[in-house]
Amino acid sequence: MPAALIVTTLGLFLATGMLYVSQNQHRALLSATVRSSGWVAYQAQLEYVKTQNQFEVTTLRLNRRSLDELQFRLELLRSRLPLLYDSDEGRLLQEVAAQKDVLQHYEGVLDSLIDSLPNLSPDAPATLPALRSAFYEIEPLGRVLQRVLMQSVAYNEEIFRREREVAASPAVVPFALLFVSGTCLVAILFMDGRRDRLRLAEVEAAKSEVTAVQDNLRAIIEAMPLGTIIVDPDGDQVRFINPSAQTLVDPSPQHPEWKRLIRLAFETASDANGRPTGSISMAFTKPNGEIVSLRGMVGSVIWEGRPQILILLSDTSGTRNAELQLMQAAKLSTLGEMATAIAHELNQPLAVIKMAVANARRLVLSEADSEAITSKLDRIGTQVDRAKRITDQVRRYARMPSDQTASFSCRTAVELASGFVAEQYRAAGIRMSLEMDISPDLMLSGDQTMFEQVIVNLLVNARDAYDNKKHDTSQAQVTVRARTTGPDVIIAVEDGAGGIREDVLGQIFDAFCTTKSADKGTGLGLSMARNVVRDMNGTIVGANVEGGACFTITLPVGRSQAQDVA
Ligand code: ADP
Repeated sequence: MPAALIVTTLGLFLATGMLYVSQNQHRALLSATVRSSGWVAYQAQLEYVKTQNQFEVTTLRLNRRSLDELQFRLELLRSRLPLLYDSDEGRLLQEVAAQKDVLQHYEGVLDSLIDSLPNLSPDAPATLPALRSAFYEIEPLGRVLQRVLMQSVAYNEEIFRREREVAASPAVVPFALLFVSGTCLVAILFMDGRRDRLRLAEVEAAKSEVTAVQDNLRAIIEAMPLGTIIVDPDGDQVRFINPSAQTLVDPSPQHPEWKRLIRLAFETASDANGRPTGSISMAFTKPNGEIVSLRGMVGSVIWEGRPQILILLSDTSGTRNAELQLMQAAKLSTLGEMATAIAHELNQPLAVIKMAVANARRLVLSEADSEAITSKLDRIGTQVDRAKRITDQVRRYARMPSDQTASFSCRTAVELASGFVAEQYRAAGIRMSLEMDISPDLMLSGDQTMFEQVIVNLLVNARDAYDNKKHDTSQAQVTVRARTTGPDVIIAVEDGAGGIREDVLGQIFDAFCTTKSADKGTGLGLSMARNVVRDMNGTIVGANVEGGACFTITLPVGRSQAQDVA
């Protein structure tokens, strides 16, 4: 809009200037033409007067020379006449148009006079009367020329009068236009400048506001108890660390150990495409050897105008320890519950060993062949292995959970967990069916024992649900299914024991939510399961299905063993 206005004003300005210049040129041309028109009339009149004089002179001093001089004058006069009506200047004189025929008549008269003069002899008596008669014949031409001259003078006077008038009011219209367009231009430029200044002021104000907000944000980030690290993805360079983060490694962003922390964080929180994003739960060994448990997240952020990666970390060593203790307590409580079953399971190989030992002793006493004794000893060995497997399972299970993350086979972990409760299921008369639709080298990332603990908890809960129901043992069945969908593995534990009580359905994952008696339930199993699954970047949900409950765990698949080896 302002551009269009400026262009229009400039156009007006130019047009006015051109109008002024062309008017001036036109006026100058007109006055020059008018003046020269007067000049043409004046010249003709002058020639006429000179010719009259020459007539006088010739009649007084009649000789050849004066006659030639007269002829010359007549020729000059003759040449002036056509200029009056046949030139640009002459055409301006209105009187001439009316006199054109008269002038042409006198041109004829002058032509015949000019032709006759050479034939006149200065000595001949007829010459003088012929000259006089010619003098009188062209006398009226003098009056005609006088009128033309007078009209030219009047015309000139009129022109001069107009010129004076115009000079008195010099080019009012162009000057007015010039003034208006100039004023418009100045006004537009002024308004534009003012608007620009206002905009500049607004931009400056917005800028200082942004700076103030940025300063505030920086101050908040600096004061945050959460460790904040901004990393340039180009070369994993630390761009910013707040004081809380400095305690994790070193106050200097250049310290080489930062790279180790960043790499660990990126590995822990990478998505299916290997991009660092999502939540972090990891153990980190500080440069001083102290192991800390860190939780937080990785995300993208624009920092100082560039896309950067933001890592937020909080040292959860304290709470994590408490959490691990709690998990351990929950595990030991399950283990306590299972003690009878385990003792029963151990009893079987022990009973076989006892029998084998008695048989072996008998064989030794009866000095039987060594082959029979060896077979008894082999049997004892096999049963000892069986007993060892049971105690190994208990040891694995009772081990204090840790924050160490590793890759493990999902299928193996589920099978180990199911094996751990298999005896209890047998004792309770519940059928356990495994539908493992996954390959053994499908890997998960996390702590294997804790994951096994989750599956054990779900299986123990299913068993307890059947216990509460006083079920029909021929029908009791728990199914563990595992399959993959897209980038996830889904593990579901489903029973037919009547389902979760509606009044607790919304709270079952809260700590200490239990419907079991104090000696049986702690209410920690599912809350622990949720924490473990969340640490593995997965989800767990529980829902009632027809006749029972179904708990579904969704976890992102890690790299397969084959890939790990590669
Ligand atoms: P606890 O087993 O010690 O009670 P959990 O956190 O493992 O603690 O379970 C919380 C509650 O969820 C249980 O007390 C029970 O009411 C309900 N629950 C869990 N699993 C099942 C299941 N398979 N069928 C019915 N209810 C269940």
